[in-house]
Amino acid sequence: MDSNCIFCKINVGEIPGDFVYRDSDTFVIRDIAPKAPVHLLVIPTVHVERIAEFCCEDFSIVSAMFRAAKEAVQIEGIAERGYRLIINQGEEGGQEVPHLHMHVLGGMHLRAMGMG
Ligand code: AMP
Repeated sequence: MDSNCIFCKINVGEIPGDFVYRDSDTFVIRDIAPKAPVHLLVIPTVHVERIAEFCCEDFSIVSAMFRAAKEAVQIEGIAERGYRLIINQGEEGGQEVPHLHMHVLGGMHLRAMGMG
């Protein structure tokens, strides 16, 4: 828990979040400024800023994030339609919130909307 971190605060209920899924290692919320009809954030409960900080045991977080993403896309009904997973890292990667998270974008044809 980082007391200055917005995602840590959402995790413990200090500020509200629109939760889609939660397990012992991760939680999934709706992005407050969605870029697509479905825009989720898959967030590890442990506060780690970037992959560059990882030690060997931390890589299990990545596995947990993918497990949570799989559950969340089923809950949202986009598992078969398709979606995009994005992890922004650092300043040039466009990371705004310094707590590791994975975006899940879906619910529309992303390529047709000029998104890749
Ligand atoms: P990134 O640029 O990869 O760090 O993405 C951070 C994301 O967090 C952005 O898409 C924001 O819209 C989103 N965000 C920031 N504050 C909140 C919040 N309180 N609840 C949900 N999403 C948020």
